[in-house]
Amino acid sequence: MDGSPNDRVDTSVAHPARRYNYWLGGKDHFAADRASGDAIEAAMPSIRTMALENRRFLGRAARLIAERGVRQFLDIGTGIPAPGNTHEVVQAVDASSKIVYVDNDPIVLSHARALLTSAPAGTVAYLDADLRDPRSILDHADLKATLDLSEPVGLLLIAVLHFVRDDEDVQGIVGTLLEALPSGSYVAATHATWEYLPAEAIAKLSAANPDGRFTARDGADFAALFGGLEMVEPGLASVAHWHADAEPQPRPAVEDVACNGFVARVP
Ligand code: SAH
Repeated sequence: MDGSPNDRVDTSVAHPARRYNYWLGGKDHFAADRASGDAIEAAMPSIRTMALENRRFLGRAARLIAERGVRQFLDIGTGIPAPGNTHEVVQAVDASSKIVYVDNDPIVLSHARALLTSAPAGTVAYLDADLRDPRSILDHADLKATLDLSEPVGLLLIAVLHFVRDDEDVQGIVGTLLEALPSGSYVAATHATWEYLPAEAIAKLSAANPDGRFTARDGADFAALFGGLEMVEPGLASVAHWHADAEPQPRPAVEDVACNGFVARVP
């Protein structure tokens, strides 16, 4: 034990970041992550497509926000680095863009150096913090040193809100984040949903979620968390179909990508 992030890594329990890395074909996962990932895949055979499509959405949504002129990004629930990290996408639009990454998983922290490879003109910071304590993110000295919260920010909540339960005040958490964003800011978010799935698959997915950490929300409940924002057309849609004309065709069916997403503007 030397105080390194690895001291906090419990390899006996499945972690969302490592399981997602397993589905994406990465190398940073342990037996417990693979067992959990395989159990979920047994219930949802298209889970790898779902992970990949979520990742593609992240790229399209971040680029759209950058193309609308936003130069500062707050990416909460960063995940283990994978092709098309947020800073790569938005610094390709403007190399001076500033990005703050946030995750609460020690394995992501141990990869932070790989995330912190900003274009020389820009800045990237990494916060080891928890979405369920949004003030610890907003008040963090490294966030304040990197982002100017009086200027528009692109807030990314990609495949992370389904790890916050209703009894952890998901609505209050989203509200605290939105209150901190000035007019002209944007939000991109995705969320797993079971609304497109048959009852049998839902029962199997529930059984593969023994700790109850995961909460699927249907599109209406997900969008309601962000009431008051101006949806960018076409509004909330399957992540496989949102602004996806330039992606490989044909697009996967909504029931194979049980995840909704949207981009919206803060009025
Ligand atoms: N946004 C990335 C990764 C999604 S995987 C992408 O779409 O590609 C979900 C990530 O959210 C994991 O890295 C997990 O560690 C992180 N996460 C889950 N709960 C969190 C919390 N309460 N606070 C911060 N990060 C969290």
